Amino acid sequence: MVSRVIPVEPFDLVIFGGTGDLSRRKILPGLFKRFLAGQMPPEARVIGAARSEMPREEFQDLAAEAIREFAEEAIGDGDGDGLAAFLDRIHYISIDARGEKGWNELQDMMSDKSRIEAYYFSVAPSLFGDLAEKLQSYGMADDESRIVVEKPFGRDLESARELNATLARYFDERQIYRIDHYLGKETVQNLMAVRFGNMLFEPLWNSQYVDHIQITVAETVGVGGRGEYYDKSGAMRDMVQNHLMQLLCLIAMEPPARFSPDAVRDEKLKVIRALDPVPPHHIARGQYGEGQNGDDHPDYRTAVGDPRSKTESFIAIRTMVSNWRWAGTPFYLRTGKRMGARSSEITVVFKDTPHSIFGEDAGSHRNVLSIRLQPNEGITLGVTIKEPGPGGMRLVDVPLDMTFADALGPDGGEQVEAYERLIMDVIRGNQTLFMRGDEVEAAWAWTDPIIEGWIKRGDVPKPYESGSTGPTDSDQLLKREGREWRKIAP
Ligand code: NAP
Repeated sequence: MVSRVIPVEPFDLVIFGGTGDLSRRKILPGLFKRFLAGQMPPEARVIGAARSEMPREEFQDLAAEAIREFAEEAIGDGDGDGLAAFLDRIHYISIDARGEKGWNELQDMMSDKSRIEAYYFSVAPSLFGDLAEKLQSYGMADDESRIVVEKPFGRDLESARELNATLARYFDERQIYRIDHYLGKETVQNLMAVRFGNMLFEPLWNSQYVDHIQITVAETVGVGGRGEYYDKSGAMRDMVQNHLMQLLCLIAMEPPARFSPDAVRDEKLKVIRALDPVPPHHIARGQYGEGQNGDDHPDYRTAVGDPRSKTESFIAIRTMVSNWRWAGTPFYLRTGKRMGARSSEITVVFKDTPHSIFGEDAGSHRNVLSIRLQPNEGITLGVTIKEPGPGGMRLVDVPLDMTFADALGPDGGEQVEAYERLIMDVIRGNQTLFMRGDEVEAAWAWTDPIIEGWIKRGDVPKPYESGSTGPTDSDQLLKREGREWRKIAP
């Protein structure tokens, strides 16, 4: 398999919050990998920016350390020439989003307007407005510059609208890249290729043939050091409103006329707007308990430091997409922390065959299309075949692996991580895999009444065992409709 690296134009990428956690874990290592792949033109520069005073060399050391920690495999066993060459592209400016410090210096660095300018807001969302305003007042918010903003994009509809309005004062929608890194995952794009590049699936992709759809994002970690932040947010705001809804959109949307930013995002928006309001009995919320059997993790309330916290670390939702394609097919979403295994998977469960010619003994066999995002990204289709050997017509379900590793070469094609792809899309000016402002607002419009209902009723999440699959209410959501969750497998 030949790796095809599409060259990009010379660019300057400024990372506000360059010294922070996200920059160290994802942005700098991602850029390094793209550099090694030959995608960064010789003139490209990466400029870290944060309040801390430090000479350029110190920031280069910070970047090198981050790359060694989070992209060690990319450095390889060589003499480190690649890393040294990458560090040569790295600059640093001490800047304050809320003051004048550093802005003249940045303005000077960005004076060559023939280069692509991208500004990554890897800082707290409360600084997004300040940064946008400063970029404009220092002449950096020109027609072609781009800004990248991270989640959380608001905490409800009102704050998301305010944030959109603030950014819109300085930048056009076509210049704003709202990241949801799930959209940058290889398998998520493969899902679109499988759906819209084959004749096989689309005719069956509706409530006549699909019994139900499950989307699971399970984490084994707890809230860790983010307790204070997480407790103000919870699984609904932190995961469902963005990542799970984006996955649901890609599964449920109509085929866009073309794979272009607005064609795709228009179709996703229609899905969100078609979501039914969710009644309380279609939701299960939970909080994890303390670790067991030598695992000394604290329980959720201890971890967040509030013995009366009503925030959920787990949520399962049954929802419906009310349109012609999906009326009658439930979508079950669940996500939680401290679960038994780390696994993100979308499962499309097809209906039973209308009549079994093999008799009742053959049992029920359903085709299941499983799109696995992590770990072990890949797509499998469960098909029913005859169990080999003598003994009559015994049926068995086997997975048809569509990960294409064999067809595409020993390494299954080049592995590109979500952040690498998304940052390069920003430089290329391709917004297809980024959320549009109206999508984000529509997602909050669906989420808000659910959260408001919990607050009004004083709902308290049910405890669940650490290392389990969540509270029993979650199983009941499916059981009472004769269904069950897929096993959460590592
Ligand atoms: P972080 O570790 O707290 O880093 C914050 C960065 O902002 C630091 O570099 C800090 O450096 C800089 N900063 C703070 N105040 C500033 C100011 N007034 N002017 C200029 N720079 C300032 O945060 P993070 O975890 O990297 O998160 C960054 C953003 O990404 C947040 O919006 C977060 O919600 C989002 N996000 C993070 C993750 C993740 O995995 N970390 C995942 C998804 C989304 P100084 O203190 O030196 O200024």
